[in-house]
Amino acid sequence: MTCLRCQHGMMKRFGTYGKRRIQRYRCQKCSATFSETRQSRFGTHYLSLEKTTRIVSLMVEGVSVRAISRLTDIDRNTVLSVLLTVGEKIPPEFPRLASWVSRIQRLG
Ligand SMILES: [Zn+2]
Repeated sequence: MTCLRCQHGMMKRFGTYGKRRIQRYRCQKCSATFSETRQSRFGTHYLSLEKTTRIVSLMVEGVSVRAISRLTDIDRNTVLSVLLTVGEKIPPEFPRLASWVSRIQRLG
């Protein structure tokens, strides 16, 4: 397990959640938490931290998923999976980003 936020390799088990008892992990360095499913899903579309940061910053600016995909030359589904991963940890100062992510989550 590698931290998706700081790329640190020390992830510790951090309990489970949901009916299916999905395993969560927490980074020893930055305390970010990730679930097993998100990790593997993200892993199939591996992106550098730099690209992930770029996607998120465009999203915060209100750029649509389709436009982000075009601007960054990253597959639309990858953009969506990044947003869903990051969406678990949206700071309260980005309400617009939070509403976008919840809309994407409803679409499945
Ligand atoms: Zn970390």
